[in-house]
Amino acid sequence: MSNGRAGRFLPYGRQQIDEDDIAAVAEVLRGDYLTTGPAVAAFEQALRGVTGANHAVACANGTAGLHLAALALDLKPGHVAVVPSLTFLATANAVRLTGAEVVFADVDPATGLMGADHLEAALSRTEKSRVRAVFPVHLNGQCVDMESVGACARRHGLAVVEDACHALGANQRMGNDWIGTGACAASDMAVFSFHPVKTVAMGEGGAVTCADETLDRRLRSLRSHGLTREASEFTVTEQAFDAEGQPNPWYYEMHEVGLNYRASDINCALGLSQINKLPRFQASRARIMAEYARLLAPLAPIVRLVPQMSWSQPSWHIAVAHIDTAAAGTTRAKLVRQLFADGIGTQVHYLPVHRQPYYRERYGLADLPGADAYYAGCLTLPMFVGMELADVARVAQSLRSALG
Ligand SMILES: *Cc1c(COP(=O)(O)O)cnc(C)c1O
Repeated sequence: MSNGRAGRFLPYGRQQIDEDDIAAVAEVLRGDYLTTGPAVAAFEQALRGVTGANHAVACANGTAGLHLAALALDLKPGHVAVVPSLTFLATANAVRLTGAEVVFADVDPATGLMGADHLEAALSRTEKSRVRAVFPVHLNGQCVDMESVGACARRHGLAVVEDACHALGANQRMGNDWIGTGACAASDMAVFSFHPVKTVAMGEGGAVTCADETLDRRLRSLRSHGLTREASEFTVTEQAFDAEGQPNPWYYEMHEVGLNYRASDINCALGLSQINKLPRFQASRARIMAEYARLLAPLAPIVRLVPQMSWSQPSWHIAVAHIDTAAAGTTRAKLVRQLFADGIGTQVHYLPVHRQPYYRERYGLADLPGADAYYAGCLTLPMFVGMELADVARVAQSLRSALG
């Protein structure tokens, strides 16, 4: 793909890989460890630095991270977790993989974010004593109001897992302070994805952050088959220790069933190289969003960008506009095809998960008008590092002509 030339295809999102990223990966390939080596720990340390988390556990992808978090909470059949309907499938699926059931919460029709009122409404639709957790989703790089959602969850005795797959580098308001997403000021864990369309790319990659050391140990064990090499956790003393009471060097124990959800050194080296550029990536995305805001303002009220909320300092992941195609005498499908013909890629994030056949058959169709309204008008426009302001102008021009 050529850079910056008018007429090139603009995907809705893509990675930015530089020569130093390639060099970082090549260095791992020439070294001793392709996995379970020093690049994993170095990436985890960098992620702690960026988020303000006490602990960070790198893993295979964001979905694996959500599943690990659900397992670490001991979700199981008979339990229920609240998930907003406006998210990627993985948030709800992670709950189902434990055997627990999902109750879908509605979201704000303008931002797609779940609020404390939506959480309360979801709780009122289910058997309260079975609900163990809530998974707020920081959509588009803008955070849920974690202060009020966290307080609501605490009031009901729920664990909180933030799906922060869109929100690396976003800050959350807590009283008079701003807290990094992933620091888990109002949650138990936060989960990140480093898929190539996310702000930082690992190829496939993810992470779970938490403040609690016990939870960190549990996540690490679940990430690797449920095994532990911590001598303090060994229970079969005669197998674990020699006559001097030293742990046997080869020894490990397993106390529960885990998975292989590890991230390789190859992926983590890329992640480390990328995460060091986060401020530059964020600034680049913010600049593109500001240009969209400027150029699309004259198209209001037919076209409106997702509004920015006071409780969040966003780290924009995707550029979402709500478009009243009916008022413009067209349809979203026609608009998508016209933009595509102009070399502009778009996407819809997301189909409300409660409408997926699997969930619909399992739970029936809940009435979630906020999620439906958000879905009905949303369209994700191109935004990626390396996109130029002239490209933004091209998108705005194409929208203007398609909408008449
Ligand atoms: C990308 C994403 C995931 C899943 O992450 P993967 O790394 O693709 O497994 C989960 N939730 C949300 C909101 C996402 O955007």
